[in-house]
Amino acid sequence: MRRHLFVLSAPSGTGKTSLIRALVDGDESLSVAISHTTRPRRAAEVDGVHYHFVTASDFAALRADGGFLEFATVFGHSYGTSHQALENALQTGDVILEIDWQGAAQVRKRWRDAVSIFVLPPSRQALAARLAQRGQDRPEVIAKRTAQAVADMSHHDEFDHLLVNDDFDATVATLKRIVAATRAGRIEPREDHAALLAELLSAT
Ligand code: 5GP
Repeated sequence: MRRHLFVLSAPSGTGKTSLIRALVDGDESLSVAISHTTRPRRAAEVDGVHYHFVTASDFAALRADGGFLEFATVFGHSYGTSHQALENALQTGDVILEIDWQGAAQVRKRWRDAVSIFVLPPSRQALAARLAQRGQDRPEVIAKRTAQAVADMSHHDEFDHLLVNDDFDATVATLKRIVAATRAGRIEPREDHAALLAELLSAT
């Protein structure tokens, strides 16, 4: 049976993990490939469920072995989707990768018909507020994350679809529509969001 590969990228603070959870929980033919990372595990995370948490040397060994479909360094840590993780996820149906724009670019070269989606925050202010809400981070850390998010968003035009996560349920519905259209062999039109992009990408 034909399998479809979806790639979803978004700057941090856009709520992409919750979006993917809602999308996948409502679709038994869609699952997320579990990435490897060298980032330390957060309290709520489970090894083998949220990520495969590995040491830098294990990551380097798998990389040297050609074990990754794609990999990138994000916020100083290595992240990658192994061929094995993709294979495992493909056993049950279509697959979605939650990866950054650098990884998305590598996937596009190997899976020409992968459908890529970029999620934008509804405003610069909303992005800053979400990044600040995440916890104990210092203002300079938040400023750095915001700058990183702006740099990430400058790659929006490399993606097949552009979504704004202003209303969670509406965004999940749009994601479902893109998945359904892809399975039916149709292409959903790409939303434009030019005015919002101008605001998001403007200098601080
Ligand atoms: P976090 O550490 O917050 O879970 O993720 C940080 C960033 O790494 C996010 O932008 C996420 O999309 C990205 N990321 C997570 N897994 C992968 C992966 O396997 N490959 C790539 N290229 N990026 C990833």
